[in-house]
Amino acid sequence: MSAPESGLPVHAKDNPNTPSDGAPSKNALKKAAKDAEKAAKKAAAKKAEEEKRAEQQGSAEEDNAKDNYGALPTDSDVQVTHLKMIGEEHADKTINVIVRVHNSRGQSAKLAFLMLRQQGKTVQSVVAAGDEVSKQMVKWATSVSVNSFVRVTALVKKTPAPVESASIKDYELHIRKIYLISPAMQMLPVQPKDIERPPPEGNVEEGATDATGMPVVTLKTRLDNRVIDLQSECNQAIFTISSAVESLFEEYMRKSGSRKFNTAKLVGAATEGGSDVFEVSNYFGKKAYLTQSPQFYKQMLIAGDCESVFEIGPVFRAENSNTHRHLTEFTGLDFEMVFDNHYHEVLSFAEKLIVFVVTELLSRYKDEITIIQKYFPKAGDFKIKDGKALRLKYLDGVQLLKDAGHDTSEQDAFKTDLTTAMEKALGKIIREKYETDFYVLDEFPMAVRPFYTKQHPANPDLSYSYDFFMRGEEIMSGAQRINDAEELETAMRAKGVDPSSEGFVDYVSAFRQGCRPHAGGGLGLNRIVQFFLGLDNVRQATPFPRDPQRLRP
Ligand code: ATP
Ligand code: MG
Repeated sequence: MSAPESGLPVHAKDNPNTPSDGAPSKNALKKAAKDAEKAAKKAAAKKAEEEKRAEQQGSAEEDNAKDNYGALPTDSDVQVTHLKMIGEEHADKTINVIVRVHNSRGQSAKLAFLMLRQQGKTVQSVVAAGDEVSKQMVKWATSVSVNSFVRVTALVKKTPAPVESASIKDYELHIRKIYLISPAMQMLPVQPKDIERPPPEGNVEEGATDATGMPVVTLKTRLDNRVIDLQSECNQAIFTISSAVESLFEEYMRKSGSRKFNTAKLVGAATEGGSDVFEVSNYFGKKAYLTQSPQFYKQMLIAGDCESVFEIGPVFRAENSNTHRHLTEFTGLDFEMVFDNHYHEVLSFAEKLIVFVVTELLSRYKDEITIIQKYFPKAGDFKIKDGKALRLKYLDGVQLLKDAGHDTSEQDAFKTDLTTAMEKALGKIIREKYETDFYVLDEFPMAVRPFYTKQHPANPDLSYSYDFFMRGEEIMSGAQRINDAEELETAMRAKGVDPSSEGFVDYVSAFRQGCRPHAGGGLGLNRIVQFFLGLDNVRQATPFPRDPQRLRP
């Protein structure tokens, strides 16, 4: 028999074990007592459960802030302030921000601190139980998973002392409302706090820890998890600089009257050797190739009376180069222009272009550079003496190396280019001697330049070509180009290239109707950012790098 709902002890007369004569047996009495005890226990448990529920219901009713947190309300006219804009005019005012929860710390049932983040910038915030904030709201705020997006309504307060752990140090947010916009999964493959630390130096094994016992996040892990990695303060600043380099390049070119073009990246025949190009195996049943530079098209535009052209676009290189400065796909900043008398007009133009880009970066992007400097200490020390480019002849560069004890016998014979090690050594020598990280070498040996390069009229071993260097590494190659079809054909044959072959016939033909003398250059955006900021690796200056090992993400 089950215990009666009332929880009262079972009465003897209701018990089926009770003898029919009305006198209960000893056994029956014992059993009845046991049953009564059981029922009492059950009833007590039930009562406790009911009391708990009642308490909970009661407290829910007492939550005076239940509309101030939780799921995002459907309001549609909320004015939102960007975190980076917070300043004096917001002090003691209430603002709305849409931010990530960078981390959270519950201090007590009534108090929690949330570090909030937007585009790498952080601000301290406080959730303290009071008129508009309940204990339940404090608890909920700390339960939001790290990295989730929330919309916060908060009172901006000037901080009594700078908050050193936040990038916005002079203000904090006193949260009045907090709603979840988009949750982050609990287990992030890389923690935002791990990517906020400087990258490890040298080769570090996966899974290694640093001196403080924190896991070291290698470049590979960062790139594998690039979306989280991009959220870091440092990366946000790096890509602001990268975007700025592109727009400053464009600003300078447009101011000069140049026009921007987007030339074809798919071509029907491999040029410049063929081994360095990627093949598209099925272009409607035929083969196509990805261009390794816009060189031919820039020159064809010049032949098409465009006079001055530039392009910002992808450049593909099928070289199996696994170095800190080589990618298989990078962003080329290319330009080509006619000149009136001498190719040095174009060289001077290009030098001033780089001086413009660097000096504007240094003046317009101080804040970003300061941030990057925390992670890459060289970022802030780029030197450019007297706001001018240093131009040396290639052979003068060789001489500087020779003076410093380098064996330059191969370079003296005009057969090989400077090695990477020599370029870096020269960078150091020049920095010490001339106090600059940007310099130009002019008049390279003909043998190390492509066939379309103009030969030096006074010395057939040399050419009218130049390379630009930042911190001892190449950022640009350029030259005066051959503008005469016959001269071009001869130069091609001398380098074993057939001018009538499919990949070249249109290019050579472009010069048959006459073409003004012209020169230009090709810069790598990723390299400029890398070397200007003193980053360790070109991949750090590339949002989604492509190299022989990496085709994702
Ligand atoms: P390097 O000697 O460093 O391999 P390169 O002489 O082969 O460079 P160019 O063909 O002269 O390069 O290309 C012009 C510019 O494009 C370079 O100065 C550099 O800024 C950039 N660049 C060239 N190759 C790469 C690459 N693989 N990855 C990133 N940038 C590159
Ligand atoms: Mg080059």
